[in-house]
Amino acid sequence: MAWPRIARSSLIQPGRTITSYIRKTSTVGDGAPAGDCYSTPIRNFTATTNLMQHCRLGMINQTSFGSRGIRVAPQYQFPSAADRILEDSDSENENVRLPGLEATGPNEKSRVVVLGTGWAACRLLKGLDTNIYDAVCISPRNHMVFTPLLASTCVGTLEFRSVAEPVTQIQSALATSPNSYFYLASCTGIDVEKHEVICEAVSKDGQTNEPYQFKVSYDKLVIATGAEPVTFNIKGVKENAFFLREVTHAQEIRRKILLNLMLAENPGLPEEERKRLLHCVVIGGGPTGVEFSGELSDFIQRDVHERFSHVKDDVKVTLIEANEILSSFDVGLREYATRHLTKNGVQLMRGIVKEVHDKKIVLNDGTELPYGLLVWSTGVGPSQLVKSFDVPKSPGGRIGVDEWLRVPSVDDVYALGDCAGFLEQTGKPVLPALAQVAERQGKFLVELINRIGKENGGKAFHSRGMPMGEPFVYKHLGSMASVGRFKALVDLRESKDAKGISHAGFISWLIWRSAYLTRVVSWRNRIYVVVNWATTMVFGRDNSRIG
Ligand SMILES: Cc1cc2nc3c(=O)[nH]c(=O)nc-3n(C[C@H](O)[C@H](O)[C@H](O)COP(=O)(O)OP(=O)(O)OC[C@H]3O[C@@H](n4cnc5c(N)ncnc54)[C@H](O)[C@@H]3O)c2cc1C
Repeated sequence: MAWPRIARSSLIQPGRTITSYIRKTSTVGDGAPAGDCYSTPIRNFTATTNLMQHCRLGMINQTSFGSRGIRVAPQYQFPSAADRILEDSDSENENVRLPGLEATGPNEKSRVVVLGTGWAACRLLKGLDTNIYDAVCISPRNHMVFTPLLASTCVGTLEFRSVAEPVTQIQSALATSPNSYFYLASCTGIDVEKHEVICEAVSKDGQTNEPYQFKVSYDKLVIATGAEPVTFNIKGVKENAFFLREVTHAQEIRRKILLNLMLAENPGLPEEERKRLLHCVVIGGGPTGVEFSGELSDFIQRDVHERFSHVKDDVKVTLIEANEILSSFDVGLREYATRHLTKNGVQLMRGIVKEVHDKKIVLNDGTELPYGLLVWSTGVGPSQLVKSFDVPKSPGGRIGVDEWLRVPSVDDVYALGDCAGFLEQTGKPVLPALAQVAERQGKFLVELINRIGKENGGKAFHSRGMPMGEPFVYKHLGSMASVGRFKALVDLRESKDAKGISHAGFISWLIWRSAYLTRVVSWRNRIYVVVNWATTMVFGRDNSRIG
């Protein structure tokens, strides 16, 4: 236990800070020495400085996953969470540094702490060499969500189980290895000097009732905490809209759709109220909003017409977008999607939402739209946790990383996926918030970390000066989106302005389904998906509203 502690304090360089960076070296391709890519002292702190105050990577309340999606407004305010930790005396903090979670000793395996169980984190965990490292994964959910098929679960085309993969199935060492763990908790802060993450356990439905905090020491830290939906601070969105990022969100949407259909059939309901209940409004014409609208129109045309035939004519779907729908897709594909959705009963509207009330939305031009279900899908931005990190950010506010996904000048911290972006100094663009980016970054980083471990750089500070090898290079493979009724779009261009193959229609739908089926993480879920698709095709969707 003593070695890392000594190493840590002796290697802290007085005067180094994580708040400002000037590029010193940039060796693209040949490999750069670790920990020597960026550095410039602006603000002094020494090894004795309280890093929780001055050099913290963040000290916030946990990201709260409320019943209507990821709430930016937490149950308790950020300063109080920070204060609570700061107020805790050191001795009290020692209480929560649990045995087995302190800094690793020289004869122990190095510990990789991974924050998150999304695409990036899970790909990394899957490839982690557990002969070299112990793994500790910390996340407020214990599973990975196969997001490309999440919209299908909202209407019962797929069951929820089919898109959720427990993290312990992805990396079995988390369940079986004596010093590897999964903790159902949120990271609330990082002490980069002590190489510790501060966590708050999650209880009851993903929300912390009685905050219980503990600390975990790391040799290598991987931040893969994703992003949060952006609401542009529009009044009423968080309170009234559903987001679509988690399985729990899809469950809530499905329950709400079925509830509204059943309530609309009740006798004595004024016509206006029945129409309101049956009006589904989707805000945001990106791939998620379009795919969800397509799934809804499928559901309405087949299942609602058969099983809710008394109200079928009043069911309406409106997709509102401020600009073009599917703006990243080829223009021909956009036009195809517009025609297809309109033909299948989705009303496309140009508009900007001004405010959201519990039963209606108001657009900038004063139009009022009563709704029974509102799904908000206008893209993602940095989470509260990421915003609180006192490190240089990439354009757009994500955690800034170099070409090897390191958080420069902070030893042994890496960030990837939706929460990270290349620093401007790298000359590389911030990559889109996509699973294919997150997954490939996870693959790249785990190979790097495994190699570092094999070359005896696994312990904290031990990878300083090591050549990093080839940097991460992203090549976009293309985009796909289903638009419902056995049709999809496949755009295989590398970028928006590049030339390449694009196709829309039934063949694309087959490609879309096959491509995602092969990407589903486990054979178990692959079988679930195939069985769900087959039963939906033969028997229709399950309309029972359980729970
Ligand atoms: C409905 C939908 C459909 C999509 N379809 C596609 C598609 O077809 N193709 C594509 O390429 N991309 C798609 N995406 C985007 C893709 O899912 C994301 O880009 C991808 O999930 C990003 O991976 P990530 O690992 O960075 O973050 P995420 O997958 O979002 O994972 C973040 C993880 O961090 C955890 N976390 C959050 N806060 C904390 C904290 N404080 N402490 C610890 N853990 C924390 C979360 O619980 C979660 O486990 C889709 C997204 C959605 C929502």
